[in-house]
Amino acid sequence: MDLFEYQGKQFFAMFDIPVSPGEAVTTVDAAVAAADRIGYPVVVKAQVMVGGRGKAGGVKLASTTEEAREHATNILGLDIKGHIVEVLWIEKASDIAEEYYASFTLDRAAKKHLGMLSAQGGVEIESVAETDPDAIAKIWIDPVDGLTEEDARRWVSGARLNPDATEGAVDILVKLYRAYTEGDADLAEINPLILTPEGKVHALDAKVTLDDNAAFRHDWDEFASTQVRDEREQAAHEKGLQYVGLDGNVGIIANGAGLAMSTLDVVNQAGGAPANFLDIGGGANADVMAGALEVINNDPKVRSIFINIFGGITRGEEVANGIVQALGRVTLNSPIVIRLDGTNADQGREILAAHESETLISKPTMLEAAQAAVELANR
Ligand code: GDP
Ligand code: MN
Repeated sequence: MDLFEYQGKQFFAMFDIPVSPGEAVTTVDAAVAAADRIGYPVVVKAQVMVGGRGKAGGVKLASTTEEAREHATNILGLDIKGHIVEVLWIEKASDIAEEYYASFTLDRAAKKHLGMLSAQGGVEIESVAETDPDAIAKIWIDPVDGLTEEDARRWVSGARLNPDATEGAVDILVKLYRAYTEGDADLAEINPLILTPEGKVHALDAKVTLDDNAAFRHDWDEFASTQVRDEREQAAHEKGLQYVGLDGNVGIIANGAGLAMSTLDVVNQAGGAPANFLDIGGGANADVMAGALEVINNDPKVRSIFINIFGGITRGEEVANGIVQALGRVTLNSPIVIRLDGTNADQGREILAAHESETLISKPTMLEAAQAAVELANR
């Protein structure tokens, strides 16, 4: 899950990374009260999960109560790249001498952690990568070895930061690596990492993505409670289904993540557009299937439903019976195309055959089923 900046800073603080004190608020009055408490100057910051807030007018400096009120009024409700601002983070303003960039993420191809550090911070790192790739010092870290202070020191010197920033940067990078690994993040980014005129190094922004698979090891309830989910994703999540909403009109149900991905591909190949990714996992009993059908059926964009099941341990006839029972429970708005293959597919298809109609079609191959589903969706 992605964290808001203020949550990223709470996460950083758990690992002793220096951040500015501040308060998260949702109303103008609360923003002003927080600013008065913190003491001026403060920065009023829009909390949305998208970068470039500064450029969009979502980050403003306030030197007085009146300015804090004015900025809070303007920023609350602001639309930043399609994200409406509902939360503000009010923090003690910092003096900036220089702005840097620092991050850790996973380089899957290299099977290592990748650290990136640049003296050109405050701007989008993608544009630095394009215009001046040499300005980004990269380090690949073997997870077994970790990042030592010596590694960090060499890395910092390669990035040619102001020498005044060396000690502070080394300290923060070692802590940020710990936060990223021990904290189970997929991404931990500080942009800008600042050097103050007093020579302090400090995280001014925070972009953190946590690995949901590690949630059981942590107390992330607070973070999870503010997640803004697509309504469809919320409903699917509550049913324990692996679901990702997409923009097309062919609803997809498959068993296994790999098959679900292939199903999206084959629907595209047939000229259609999938409405979602949905993996019902190994079992395909009536309960799971009915839950999946409900989620898809509630998506107003869906015009046809493609169920793609490969029987393995769950045999074809069990799957077919599950589908038939589920259909008895859910009243569908869209026609269904089923492709059933794998263990005991013949028995499964026989069971389905008894229920076939204009709105329940069975096809023997994935491609034929996709073509039929796409054709029905576009009718
Ligand atoms: P982003 O635009 O969404 O990445 O938001 P940031 O939190 O990175 O803020 C954008 C820019 O606002 C930073 O690069 C700084 O230049 C500026 N800014 C943010 N906080 C402060 C602060 O405390 N003091 C000063 N002087 N500038 C700040
Ligand atoms: Mn930033």
